[in-house]
Amino acid sequence: MKTDLFSLDGKAVLVTGGSRGIGAACAKLLAERGATVAITYSKTAERAEALVEEIESAGGSAFAVAADAGDAEAVKAGVARVLERFGGYLDILVNNAGIAEPGLIGEQDAAIFERQMNINIRGVWSTTSATVASMRDDGRIINIGSFFSERVTVPGISAYAMTKHAVAGLTKGWARDLAARRITVNTVEPGSIETEANPDEGARAAMVKAMIPLGRYGQPAEVAELVAFLASRAAGYINGAQILIDGGMLA
Ligand code: NDP
Repeated sequence: MKTDLFSLDGKAVLVTGGSRGIGAACAKLLAERGATVAITYSKTAERAEALVEEIESAGGSAFAVAADAGDAEAVKAGVARVLERFGGYLDILVNNAGIAEPGLIGEQDAAIFERQMNINIRGVWSTTSATVASMRDDGRIINIGSFFSERVTVPGISAYAMTKHAVAGLTKGWARDLAARRITVNTVEPGSIETEANPDEGARAAMVKAMIPLGRYGQPAEVAELVAFLASRAAGYINGAQILIDGGMLA
């Protein structure tokens, strides 16, 4: 009998920031492939519950837990609830929660710099720290980075780009730290993906699309396909990689 290398049957998954956008698309697809998916959020409880309902009415399995990625204690408590629901283990962690708050150096408030550090870097670190001991062998950690950690193509994005460079650094280090347990760690680096955080509208979007060889924004579902592949057994030899999904923008 042929085994399905792409199946996620029986896998326990945590997607941070899963109530909308790229995280929600990942949650839906991973559940469709057979995983049980926990999603976290910081504010949008109703959106998270609606997504859980949508997944369950399509025959999947999911639940939502509040855990502000920028608050280490909230992450610890949230992860504890997720692990309890899963019976003490996890197979796949998608560190997706992240924010971008632009500002030029000299004009950006320190609080905005700190907020991006807390959610985009410390959130990834604290969620992974709280889960890694409970990860089963052959696990997967998929960090959502950004094409800005390859090249900074617009002004005003330095702090956000810095946080995503840090995520790529953590990925490479953890790829070595966890290899003995066959847990792979990779970064997915989206280009411009149409979400509430990055709407495809107005002059700015037109300028961005002019820079993309495919001439359009990517969709969250397209990023989710890459995440689902990395989460699968088929991707077992991909480790420590930074994988662009940007319509050719940086080609
Ligand atoms: P959205 O703003 O559309 O969605 C963000 C999700 O994360 C929501 O579910 C939100 O829910 C949650 N979230 C935000 N802050 C926190 C927090 N402190 N703790 C827990 N959850 C949180 O973002 P995108 O889907 O566009 O982005 C997702 C990831 O992809 C981010 O890491 C982003 O940097 C990255 N990315 C996005 C690109 C794009 O073009 N869209 C391009 C490159 C990278 P709630 O508000 O309830 O917390």
